[in-house]
Amino acid sequence: MKRRQFLRGTGALGATGAFALLGGCEQPSTEPQSPIAYEPGKPVPWINWAGNQSCQPQHRPAPASIDELVSVLKNAKGTVRAVGAGHSFSAVVPTDDTLIATDLLSGVIDHDPVTNTAQVLSGTRLHDLGYMLADIGQALPNMPDMAYLALGGAIVNCAHATGVNFGSMGSYVNSLRLATVGGELLECSPSSNPDIFKAALTSAGALGIVTDFTLQNQADFDLTEVNKIEPLEDMLDDIENRKANNRHFELFALPHASVGISVSTNPAQPGDKAQGQDDPQAVNTLRDVFNAIAWIPGVGSRLYDKLLTAVMGNEAETIRTGKAHEVLPHVRIVRFREMEYTVPAELGPACLREIMATIRNKQLPLSFPIEYRYVKADDIWLSMFQGQDGATISIHQYGDLDYRPIFAELEPIFWRYGGRPHWGKLHTLKSSDLAELYPKHWRDFLAVRESLDPDKRLMNAHLKELFGA
Ligand SMILES: Cc1cc2nc3c(=O)[nH]c(=O)nc-3n(C[C@H](O)[C@H](O)[C@H](O)COP(=O)(O)OP(=O)(O)OC[C@H]3O[C@@H](n4cnc5c(N)ncnc54)[C@H](O)[C@@H]3O)c2cc1C
Repeated sequence: MKRRQFLRGTGALGATGAFALLGGCEQPSTEPQSPIAYEPGKPVPWINWAGNQSCQPQHRPAPASIDELVSVLKNAKGTVRAVGAGHSFSAVVPTDDTLIATDLLSGVIDHDPVTNTAQVLSGTRLHDLGYMLADIGQALPNMPDMAYLALGGAIVNCAHATGVNFGSMGSYVNSLRLATVGGELLECSPSSNPDIFKAALTSAGALGIVTDFTLQNQADFDLTEVNKIEPLEDMLDDIENRKANNRHFELFALPHASVGISVSTNPAQPGDKAQGQDDPQAVNTLRDVFNAIAWIPGVGSRLYDKLLTAVMGNEAETIRTGKAHEVLPHVRIVRFREMEYTVPAELGPACLREIMATIRNKQLPLSFPIEYRYVKADDIWLSMFQGQDGATISIHQYGDLDYRPIFAELEPIFWRYGGRPHWGKLHTLKSSDLAELYPKHWRDFLAVRESLDPDKRLMNAHLKELFGA
C-alpha cells in the first residue's frame, strides 16, 4: 500500500473532536480565515495570505513607474506602508491610511551577461523572476521555499533559503534605489550611501520604499532535490556532514514522531529523473492521521509514531529535477501561521531537540512539520544572520487553529538559545529585546531611520513597537 493511500485511510477514521482530547488541550478554531469582511461604505479591506493581519486603507495607490512611486510616497496621507505579496505573518504591512502596492513595478530593467548581474524592479514576484532571469541566462543563487513573494517584500524582511554557503537574499544585492518620504530617490551601495545600504537591506520597510535592486546572480543552472524519510536523530547526528556535503540541506521534524524528512539539493547530474510526487496536501493528510490516532489516552502518541515510522519508513524517496527556479520553491496551498527564529548554527540541533522534547513531554497538540535550515553569516545590520552563521527553526500551525498557546510554549526556548526572530513571522519581542540581539548595529539603524523619516510617517503600530519610535 502506498504511503499516501494508507495515511488517507487512517485519517478517514476521523474521530470527531478527538484532537481536543490530546493532553487535555482545547484546539478551538478561534481565528476565521478572513478576519475582516467588506462593508459597503467602508474602505475595501486588505488581508494578508495567512489571514491573521488586516486593515482598511483609505488610499491604495499602485504606481506604475519609479517616478510615480516617488511622488506618491512623498504626497501620501497619514501612515504609509508598502505591500509586496502580503505573505508576512507579522503586522509589518497594515495601515488604515495609505497602502502602496508594488505590483506594477515588475520586470528586469537591465542586465549584464558578463557579470551575471540584473537590475530588477522591487515588485517583481519571485515566480516570475525565475523565468525572466532564465530568459537572459541567469538565475538567483538560492530561493526561499516558495516563490509567491515580491522581491522587495522578501529582501527587506531578510527572507532566506537553506545552504551553509548561501546568505539571506539581501546578501546577493549589489545596490538598490530607495524612495524616501522626503521625495528623494537614493542610490545605495557599499560605495554610495553605504550606511543606508546596510540598513535598508533588512529594514522591515521602515526606511522608505525600494524601487529596484541590482542582483548578483549566477549563470542559469539545474538542480536535483532528493526527499527521504529518515529517523530524526540519525539526521541530527550526521548534520555536520549533511550540511557540508550538499549544496542545500534542510529537514522537517514531525512532532510526536521519531522520523522526519530530509531534503538534499545538489547540481543535477546527467540522467537525473523526477521520481515520485511533491504533494502539497501532505500536511493535511498528516493532520488527519494525527487527529484520528494521537488522542487515544496513554498510547496515542506512541501509536502515531509507530504508524508513521512503519508506513513512511518504507516509502521510496521523492526526486525532483530541473531548472533551479523550478526545483527550489514548492507549492504551499495549505494555510498556516508561522513563528521562526534563527539561533547560532552550532546550537541548532540542541535547540531543535529541546523543542521536540517539549512538544512530546507537554503533549502539545501540534502535527505541522517543523522546518530546520542553515544560512551563512552576512553583515547586513538587522539581518538575523548578522555576524553569525544561523540555523533557522520554523514552527507552523494550521490557519484555522489558534497558534498562540503553542507558540507561547515554544518561543521562550528560542530566547534561551539567543534566537533572533524573522521580521516577517510571528514573535512577541519588543524594541528593548531586539536591541540586545543586535548589539553591533541597532543604534546605527535607529539613527538612519530617524534621519530618513523624522516624522514617523512609515511607522505603523507594529513598527513602533519594533523600533521604539
Ligand atoms: C507560504 C509562505 C512561505 C514562506 N517561506 C519563506 C521562506 O522560505 N523563507 C523566508 O525567509 N520567509 C518565508 N516566508 C516569509 C516571507 O518571506 C516574508 O514574510 C516576506 O517578507 C514576504 O514577502 P512579501 O512580498 O509578501 O512582503 P509583504 O508581506 O507584502 O511585505 C513585507 C514588508 O516589506 C515591506 N515592503 C514591501 N515591498 C517593499 C519595497 N519595495 N520596499 C520597501 N519595503 C517593502 C512591507 O511594507 C512590509 O513591511 C514565507 C511566507 C509564507 C506565507
